[in-house]
Amino acid sequence: MGIQTIAPVPSLFTFTIKEPLFCDLMGTVAENAILSIPSTKFHSSGPLLITHWGISGPATLKLSSLAARYISEQDYRFPLAVNWVGNSNAQAVAEHLQVIIAAHPQKQLGSIRPFDLPTRLWLYLLQKNGINNTKRWSELGRKGFNKLTETLTNDQYTVNGKGTFRDEFVTCGGVSLSCLTPALESKACPNLFFAGEVLDVDAITGGFNLQAAWTTGYMVGKTSAKGEQPLS
Ligand SMILES: Cc1cc2nc3c(=O)[nH]c(=O)nc-3n(C[C@H](O)[C@H](O)[C@H](O)COP(=O)(O)OP(=O)(O)OC[C@H]3O[C@@H](n4cnc5c(N)ncnc54)[C@H](O)[C@@H]3O)c2cc1C
Repeated sequence: MGIQTIAPVPSLFTFTIKEPLFCDLMGTVAENAILSIPSTKFHSSGPLLITHWGISGPATLKLSSLAARYISEQDYRFPLAVNWVGNSNAQAVAEHLQVIIAAHPQKQLGSIRPFDLPTRLWLYLLQKNGINNTKRWSELGRKGFNKLTETLTNDQYTVNGKGTFRDEFVTCGGVSLSCLTPALESKACPNLFFAGEVLDVDAITGGFNLQAAWTTGYMVGKTSAKGEQPLS
């Protein structure tokens, strides 16, 4: 019937990370995370929620939307870099740690949280680096300092899958807009209209997908209804 479709893949989903100690942090939110997929241009930022299966929250959903097709091609297994502090400038993060060391040399590492990170997350990051949280900031040493700077700005994880089937919010792909008129009528098959999710239209969260479904549904309904004039 002359209808071209773009292969559908899920979009807006959560990531599975099979690291029990990490998933023990379920419910923890890093307010200013930056997520990126190494060796690609895909990145996102915003709050990151740690769940009992991996990660969710706005930063995760946004990255799943921006990289939906790439992630599908990787069979939902790919490396993920997490910047926990919303500042990708490692030098600036190192300076922040220096300020803490200068201000609180006798305080224990576990008691002063850089960038106001949640306590459980900070303790986990220390543990991940083999740094005892009862150590004093003045005893951190060059090696520990470098490790922490790297972990705060470029923490490495492996995504092993996505959230459960049917938990995805929207489909990336569908009926190609190139085979439709601006009124969403098939060029090859007049009087056949498409609207909503079936179109190759998808967006990040925030109501944009529902809005697209309502708007195109209204438009197509008006245009196709007998006696109605097409919308301009
Ligand atoms: C878990 C979840 C959370 C979401 N959250 C958001 C959000 O927060 N914000 C946002 O903007 N969007 C969100 N979405 C996306 C949004 O819900 C969809 O984009 C939108 O509902 C699409 O509307 P639609 O009418 O085009 O398709 P659908 O809502 O999928 O409606 C299609 C209908 O067609 C019926 N149907 C299918 N095949 C046939 C057939 N052969 N014969 C007759 N009927 C058939 C189906 O049963 C269904 O009722 C979410 C989606 C999911 C799944």
